[in-house]
Amino acid sequence: MKYSELCETYEELEKNPSRLKKTEILANFLKKLKSNADTIYLLQGKIYPDYSEKEIGISDKLIIKALAKASGISDSEILNKWRKLGDLGKVSEEIIGNKKQHTLFSHKLTVDKILENVRKLPELEGQGTVDKKMSLISELLTSADGKEAKFIVRTLLQDLRIGVADGTLRDAIVKACFDQEEDKKQITGIIQDTYDKTIDWKIVFEKAKRGIKALEDSSLEPGRPVKVMLFLKENSIEEGFMRVGRPALLDYKYDGFRMMINKEENGEIKIFTRRLDNVTKQFPEVKRYVEKYVQGKSFILDSEAVGYDVKTKKYRPFQEISQRIKRKYDIERLEKELPIEINVFDILFYNGKSLIKEPFKERRKILEKIIKKEPLKIRPSEALITDDLKMAKSFYKKALDNGEEGIMMKNLDAPYKPGARVGFGVKIKPVDNEFDLAIIGAEYGTGKRAGWLTSYDLACRHGEELLEIGKVSTGLKEKEEEGLSFIELTKKLKPLILSESGRNVKVKPEIVVTVVYQNIQKSPTYSSGFALRFPRITRLRPDRSIDDIARLAEIKKEVEKSI
Ligand code: ATP
Repeated sequence: MKYSELCETYEELEKNPSRLKKTEILANFLKKLKSNADTIYLLQGKIYPDYSEKEIGISDKLIIKALAKASGISDSEILNKWRKLGDLGKVSEEIIGNKKQHTLFSHKLTVDKILENVRKLPELEGQGTVDKKMSLISELLTSADGKEAKFIVRTLLQDLRIGVADGTLRDAIVKACFDQEEDKKQITGIIQDTYDKTIDWKIVFEKAKRGIKALEDSSLEPGRPVKVMLFLKENSIEEGFMRVGRPALLDYKYDGFRMMINKEENGEIKIFTRRLDNVTKQFPEVKRYVEKYVQGKSFILDSEAVGYDVKTKKYRPFQEISQRIKRKYDIERLEKELPIEINVFDILFYNGKSLIKEPFKERRKILEKIIKKEPLKIRPSEALITDDLKMAKSFYKKALDNGEEGIMMKNLDAPYKPGARVGFGVKIKPVDNEFDLAIIGAEYGTGKRAGWLTSYDLACRHGEELLEIGKVSTGLKEKEEEGLSFIELTKKLKPLILSESGRNVKVKPEIVVTVVYQNIQKSPTYSSGFALRFPRITRLRPDRSIDDIARLAEIKKEVEKSI
C-alpha cells in the first residue's frame, strides 16, 4: 500500500473529532486493507504490537538534523519555524511541502518502506548510531511530500495526534469485518476479549476477517502478556458470599503489586506488570525462585509481589517497595534491601494448554501442585475454602491482624476472564472511601510554596473520556524525606505540562494517585457532576495507568450507597 493512502486517512481522522465519524473512517480504511496488516500498528502511531517494549526513541534534535539534511535548510531556520508552529510535524510539512511544490511529485513511499526504516531505528547500537538513524529518517523524508513528511515525523516522535483510542479501533474492526445485522454488542465483546488475550490489534483484525470462530479460538502464549482479571468490591463478607456463591475460596489481599510470571516453552522466564511492562530485569530473584520452586515446562502465573522487612520479616506497604518496579540500576542492592515474596493466586496456562476456561478450583489445584511453598520467596497465596460465615470472618480478622489489606473471595467455578472486572472474585477491605484517580491539571502555590504545584485537579473515567471530580491539596508532605511531598509530585508533573494559564497548568494525564475522601457531593462545577469532599492524597500509584482509574459508574454507585 502507498503511504500516501494511509496519510489521507490520517488527515481525515485528524480533521474529524467525532468518535463515530472516526470509527467510520477507520472502518472504510480497514475494508481496503487487503494485505500487510502491520499497517494497523501505524494507524495506532506504532510499529509493533502494544505489548512490545521496542521504543522508536527519536529526539526532536535528531528530527531537526534529518530534516535539515533532507531539505538543505539550516538547523536554526527549522528551529525558528518550530518555535512558531509548535509542532515538528507541521514544520516538516511546510518545509518538505515547499520544496516539492515545483517538482512533479510521484508518490513512491510505501507503508512497507516506512515500517522497514522505522523498525531499524530501535535496533541500532554503538558507534555511528546517530548518523545511521539520521540517514534512515532523511531517506524517508527525501521521498516524501509535505503531508507524508508530517506523519513520518509525528510517528517518529510517537505523537500522531489523530485521536484514535483503542475503543475506536475496536469498533472500526467490528464495522469493517461484520455485517450490520449481526449482533454488534456481542461481537464487540468477543473482539475485546481477543485483544485482552493477545494485546495485538493486528492479530485481532486478521482473526476478525476470518470470522467469530477464529476470534474465539485465539489462545494465550506464554511470553506474550495478557491483561489481568480484575475484581469487584463488596462491603461485607455476607455480600461477598452472595456475589461469589458458597463455598468460596478466600485468600489474603496482599498490599503489593501484580506480577504475571510467564515461562515459555524454551524455558525463558518473563515477568509483566498489570500495565504489561516487562520487568524481568528488575526482579532477578523471581526468575530464580520460579526456576527452583515451580514445576512445569511452560506456564503463566498470576500473583501479587509483596515487600517485607529484612529484619522483622513483616510485610511492608506497597509504597515502600514501589521503586523496584521502575529502577533499572542498583538492582542487586535493591533486591537485598527491598526483598519481595511472590504470592501466586491463579494460573492461566500450563504445559502448552490454556486454563482460562477451566473452573477456578481446578486451576487452584494445579498451582498448589506445581508450586513448592517457600515462605519469603514464592508460595501459593494463603487461602481457605469455606461456606461458613464464622470461619470466613475469622480468616478476615487474621488477614488484617497480619497487616494485609483485606481478603479476596472467589467463585470456585468461574473461568479466568482477562481484562475484565467481573464478579468472579471480590475484594473486602476496611477502608472503602478511596479511589484511584488521574491528575489532569494543577495550580502553583503562593508564598512559601511559590514555584511548586500544590493543588491538583483530579479526574475519573467515563468511556474514553476523563472527567473532573474535584481538586485536592492535602495529604502531601512539605519535605521530600518525609514521604510523598508536593516537591516530588511537582517534579513528576512538570514534564507533563501541556499548557499554562496564570497559575494553572494542564498536564498530560499519566500520574495516578489514591485519594481518600469523606463523602461525595453532586457538583455542577466539575464535568463528572460530582466532587469529592475532604479529599486527601494517600499515595502515588506508579503501577497504575489511566486505564485503571475509577469509572464514573463506580462513583455513582458509591453516591447511591450513601443516600
Ligand atoms: P486495589 O486498589 O484495591 O488493589 P485494584 O483496582 O488494583 O484494587 P482489583 O481487581 O479491584 O484491583 O483488586 C485486586 C487487586 O489486589 C489485584 O489487582 C492484585 O494486585 C491485588 N491482590 C492482592 N492479593 C490478591 C489475591 N490474593 N488475589 C487477587 N488479587 C490480589
